[in-house]
Order: sequence, then C-alpha cells, then structure tokens
Amino acid sequence: MGRDLRPVAVKNVIIEDNSFWGERVRKVRDVGLPYQWQALNDAIPGAAPSHAMENLRIAAGRASGKFHGMVFQDSDLAKWLEAVAYQLAVNPNYELMKAADEVIDLIAEAQDSNGYFNTYFTIAEPNKRWTNLRDWHELYCAGHLIEAAVAYYEATGKRKLLDVAIKLADHIDSVLGPEPGKKRGYPGHEEIELALVKLYRTTGLQRFLRLAKYFIDERGRQPHYFEIEAEARGESRFPAWIGEKSYRYWQAHMPVREQTTAEGHAVRAMYLYSGMVDVALETGDSELLQACERLWDNVTNRRMYVTGAVGSSAHGEAFTFDYDLPSDAAYAETCASIGLAMWANRMLQYRLDSRYSDVMELALYNTVLSGMSLDGTKYFYVNPLEVWPEACDKRRDLSHVKYERQPWFGCACCPPNIMRVLSSLGAYAYSYGQEKICIHLFVAGRAGFVVGGQNVVITQTTDYPDGESICIEVSPEQEAEFTLAVRIPGWCGNPELKLNGVAQDLGGLVRSGYAHITRRWTRGDRIQLTFPMPVQRVRANPAVRDLVGKVAVRRGPIIYCLEEVDNGSNLAAISLPSDAELSSYFDKDLLGGTTVIAGNAVRDDESAWPEKLYCTRKPERKVVQVKFIPYWKWANRKPGEMRVWIRES
Ligand code: ZN
Repeated sequence: MGRDLRPVAVKNVIIEDNSFWGERVRKVRDVGLPYQWQALNDAIPGAAPSHAMENLRIAAGRASGKFHGMVFQDSDLAKWLEAVAYQLAVNPNYELMKAADEVIDLIAEAQDSNGYFNTYFTIAEPNKRWTNLRDWHELYCAGHLIEAAVAYYEATGKRKLLDVAIKLADHIDSVLGPEPGKKRGYPGHEEIELALVKLYRTTGLQRFLRLAKYFIDERGRQPHYFEIEAEARGESRFPAWIGEKSYRYWQAHMPVREQTTAEGHAVRAMYLYSGMVDVALETGDSELLQACERLWDNVTNRRMYVTGAVGSSAHGEAFTFDYDLPSDAAYAETCASIGLAMWANRMLQYRLDSRYSDVMELALYNTVLSGMSLDGTKYFYVNPLEVWPEACDKRRDLSHVKYERQPWFGCACCPPNIMRVLSSLGAYAYSYGQEKICIHLFVAGRAGFVVGGQNVVITQTTDYPDGESICIEVSPEQEAEFTLAVRIPGWCGNPELKLNGVAQDLGGLVRSGYAHITRRWTRGDRIQLTFPMPVQRVRANPAVRDLVGKVAVRRGPIIYCLEEVDNGSNLAAISLPSDAELSSYFDKDLLGGTTVIAGNAVRDDESAWPEKLYCTRKPERKVVQVKFIPYWKWANRKPGEMRVWIRES
C-alpha cells in the first residue's frame, strides 16, 4: 500500500475552451477572478465589503486603520490566489499575474520576522496569537496560504510565496507539537493538514509531513486541548453558542481513527478527511485509511443529498444524523461539496474505485456548479433542494436559504473556493501511476503524462454530459505498453466501449467500476465510449422521511429540478404518475444551451379548491406539461420556487 496513483498536475491538462467545462473554466478566468479581485478590493457597489486587501495593506504597513471582517478573512484572498495560480499554469494572463504578484509582495512584507502571518492578529490582537486554536482559524488561514504558495510555485516557478509558506510552516512547527515547551494543540477548522502534505510533496521536507500527521493524531485526544486553552483564557469549556455540549462540531469528540460517522461542521469534516487520506497515503497508514473508508460509507450512503451536497443543518453548518436530509432547510454549503470532491479525489489515489469518482462527479456537476451563476459573478453559499421564496423571506428557520445568488458575502468562503476548484478541474479528471493512466471525468481537451518512461497524450473529444459519447485518443510518443483505466459511470445501465472500432466485452474489462485496457498502445489508438442517458427517476432509501414517495429526475450525471418560471407557482402540487414518460431534448436558446427534460404530470388544482383550509373531498387534478432543467442552472432567470424531489403518483 501507499501511494500507487497521483493526480495529474493542473498544468498538464488543457481543457477545450468550447466545451461544457471549458466554458465554466473560461468564465472563472475571464469574469469570475477579475470580479473577485474587485470584491477583495471592496470595489463592487452593493456587495458586502471584503476588506481582505485593505487588511493586508494595513498589516504590511502600507496603510493605516483597523482590521475589518471575519477573523479568517485572509483565507478568501489565499483561495483567490490559488485559483489564479491554476489559471496561470495553463494560460498566461498578464493582468491576473500582476495582481497576484502585488498580493504576494504585500504578504511577504506583512510576514513577521519569526514567520508568523495573519492580518487579524497582526493588526488587531497581536498578544492573542495561538491562544484560541478552536475558534480563531490561524491554522486554517495558514493552510490556505500554503496551498496558494504551492500552486503559485508549481505554476510560475516563482519562489517568493513558497518561501513565505515554508517560514510560516516552520513557525507553526516551533509553536505547536508534542515536544516539551510547545502547545499541544490542533486546529478548530481543519485545512492545515492537507496543506502541509502539499508543502511536503513540493519541498520534500519531512518535517511538514510529520507536523500534518501530528495534527491528525492529536485531534480528540485526552486531556482535551480545547479545554486546556479555554481554561488558560479564563473561559468555560464550551462557547455559549454551541447548543450541544460536545466536541462533535470540530470532529474532536474522539480520536479520528475511532470515528465512524461524519459529525459536526461539514466543511471542516471534508477537509479533515482529505488530510487524513493525504497523510495515510504518504505514510502507508492503513488504519487511518480504514477510518476514511468507514466515514466515506457513512457520508455517501446515509448523509449525502442526491445532488452531492452534504451538511443538512444550518445550525453549526453541520451533519446531523443518518437519513436526515430535509430539502427546504438544507444547508448544503458549496464549500462542503467542494470538500467532498477533494476527499473523493484523494480516495481515488488510494483505491481506484468508481464509488469515489461517481460521487466526485455528482458533487462537481451539481452542487459545486450550482454555487456560481452562469455569468460568473453571483454565488450560492447554501444549496437547497426546494425553495419557496416567501418562506425564505418570512420564516426565521429558513433565513439561511437564499433564492437568488449573491454578489458577495461577509463570510465569503464559497466564491473563491469555486474559483480554485474549477481552475484545477484537470487534476480531478485524471490520475496516473507507473504504468497506468486513469480517466475519472469526461472533460473535452487533452492531458499529458509520463508513463513507463514515455510521453503520452490523451485527447478527449466529447459534448458530455449533453451528449452520450466520448472519443478518447491515446498517443504515446512511441509504442508503449501500459494500462488505461476508464471510469464506467455507476448511473449508466448499458455502457459500450469500442477499441479502434471494435466493440469490447465490458464484463471482462471492468473492475471496481473502471474498464482496464492493457496493451501496446500506438499513436492514434482510439476508444469510443457510449453512455446512454435515458431520463431516470431516482428514489431515496425509505428511511429518509422527507423523501418517501418522491422521485428526483436525473439524466447522466445531472440532477434536474422544476422551476416556477417554467412550471408555475406551487410546485408541490405537481406529481409525476409512475408511468408518465419523460423525454429529453437540447434547447440551444435556454440558459446558454441546455438539455431539458419534459413530459406530462398531474397538478392538484388550487383554483378548484373551496375557500377553506381543510376539506374532506379530493382535489381536482389536471394533466400539465412539466419542464425540468439541470439543478445547477436554477435561479439564473427570475426568482421563484424550485424543487428537486417530486411526488410520484
Ligand atoms: Zn463556503
């Protein structure tokens, strides 16, 4: 065991501009990142101010004033920087590079001589550094800075930010750890763990891997560090806002190796599990991987929405319990689905199995994409599966649910997170080993690998997921023997695969959801995949109380929804007869070109109901035409109701 596979570097994947993903990635590069640069500089009228750049200028001594914003405001800028790095890795862009270099110069200026960097503590509370690891996000911000630094170095070869990150990591190593004289702490918001593993992989410096492993293993141990530091601050064990007196919120209720259910704040959990896989892959720690597998099983079989969203409760932005997946009150943070995709991608490096990549695809094509408007400048933090705008406006328990994407947020973790995941999509699409190339996602474009000592280029031509077919051209520099492992999506009932025009028996090729083709490949060899995409009705385990008797509509990897603009108000009154036929067609004029699903359904007629609330008679029903659009494209026209799960009659 250990690290058999690794993701391809972002710079080695060119995504075809004029394609499903290319269009999204281009929107990030040309619109989203410049827009967010304005947001980070508080230059978007009407949007919640970020203060992130202003804080940095003050910390660097270039401006004066007070710190504004969240204690973790630095992380927004770091994620933006990381996204810029991924874009620069494949596409030189002078404006973005100039802005990034300006940020990096300021960060280097603001860094303390001992390596410390965090604008909040530098400006506002220099005496409180490292005194509240539970709540104050210093390690979280450091982690994002390290990720940005590694990405920027890998993309541009420029070391300045990497040197800042190394100095910062060394400072952290000098303050925290099991050795005498250090604080035996770990972060309240995980992120540093996976970042330190990245720093280790880039620098080869073992101490960063050791520190990551320490943070993983220390979490949840007794005596509880969060209590030790709370006592030192003269505070009670738990903060006032935590309703449940437990360390579950921080995944610190027990050592991570003993955990079997996903608990607490969903984004933190996803980042922790990602870090656990990273450490396990580098150290060959099978016990830690087994814990990750148990947690994976719990999340994906009991606690995940059909859209690949996780974290069903607004209180604590958290996991709750098995099968608790309310559609209207869902929290389902964009960042949590990004974290789920990150975790899935890491599980794939440990074991090539489509149960990981199916979930990765689900999260990316649905909840992650739903987080950004089609024009790239508006964002969802919360991704509900059912919306009644009036209820969101008037019910306090639904006040977290927005039915229109926002230009920015006071707590803006999601918008730049979407930028970095879409800008690094190539690294989710492929991984490779000594003599193996794996294709996880179907992304038009080309990718380069060195396999068996040979340069190999893989070119995918496809209009997936609107289209059902993918052509993969395999071009080694010279003839070479290796294995190509291609994911066969779990949602597909009757896939077909042709090799150089000859149909192959998939039964003999598929292991753990991947077709393994081992041969001597020659330039121009072609694989033709066909994944038929009939409209499917998805049903939930009856244990999910909220979803009994309901169906969701899916085509390929895309989950669909009804919107008021197409189907009128009160979508709850619509039901789908179990034998009603639904068909799909491509509408080039709708929402930038969309595969739509349409058919007949039944509507309980509100207008025929007497003027009272309750009555013994049955509602009158009428047949209506319904139109479903991809969930990720909802809320791009006018505000209104939306619904994923429909009653089946
Ligand atoms: Zn977020």
